[in-house]
Amino acid sequence: MTDPRAILAQHAKTTQLLGVDFLPLGTPPRIPQQLEDHTEPDPPPAPQPFSTIEPKPLHDFAPTPSTPTFKIDTASIRQCHESLDDPQSKLDALKDKYTTDAPHASFNNTFTNIVFGEGSPTADLMFIGEAPGQQEDETGRPFVGRAGQLLEKMIIAMGLSRETVYITNVLKTRPPNNATPTPDQAHRCAPYLIEQIRIINPKVIVTLGLPATHLLLDSTQPMRSMRGQFHPFPSPPFKDTNLQSIDLMPTYHPAFLLRSYTEDNRRKVWSDLQQVMQRLAQKKHES
Ligand code: URA
Repeated sequence: MTDPRAILAQHAKTTQLLGVDFLPLGTPPRIPQQLEDHTEPDPPPAPQPFSTIEPKPLHDFAPTPSTPTFKIDTASIRQCHESLDDPQSKLDALKDKYTTDAPHASFNNTFTNIVFGEGSPTADLMFIGEAPGQQEDETGRPFVGRAGQLLEKMIIAMGLSRETVYITNVLKTRPPNNATPTPDQAHRCAPYLIEQIRIINPKVIVTLGLPATHLLLDSTQPMRSMRGQFHPFPSPPFKDTNLQSIDLMPTYHPAFLLRSYTEDNRRKVWSDLQQVMQRLAQKKHES
């Protein structure tokens, strides 16, 4: 789509689809910060119409810790899919391996279904949330509850569909009492997530919320200081996994957005997703 009017029209349509009932052309109003995982106000992003946003250079990465606080090696898990050619068969083999190994066995949980992930096995864009909720547990599908419906709106607003991206979680089973995954639980499941990433080989990863962001970036920073910029992945704990380098954009979890559905928060998420769209377009252009 090269006609600027068509781009603006699409932008307006997709912005509205996302639930953002404004066009980010003027100075955004200051909205009191919600008490959540981000308590300090972020400076408002410089508002610009989508079509005039300059592509950022590919190397705008934020610094990451140089001494890993944990280490993940996936060589033994990789064997389950290494000899297979087709990405979907690889993912199926990995799911079987996960089911047999049951890294969630020590979580003391009563889940119904393993929610491994779904979407295109060759997706350019991968979304990683934290863990299945009740509806995901019942259906075996990621992000199908209220948060999932909002995520789907975001994906459609980006001009994509659930079928063309890949959606998964750090934990593949519903945590006990629906609690936030602990770092220990996340580390136990991480090797399987890493192999999922290797098979899909996305150009960009969007982490939704703190558990996925903290795990993959080996960070304890608040979301306000991590979102809005790309980070290099694999980060130090995952260096031994020999993954290709991937651009990772953290953003707020849609469940958080539902709880704090302010114009400011929606604007931030939409701005993060716009950067992702630009990065995907840039990488497509370069390849
Ligand atoms: N929240 C998540 O993080 N993942 C899901 O699949 C659903 C809700």
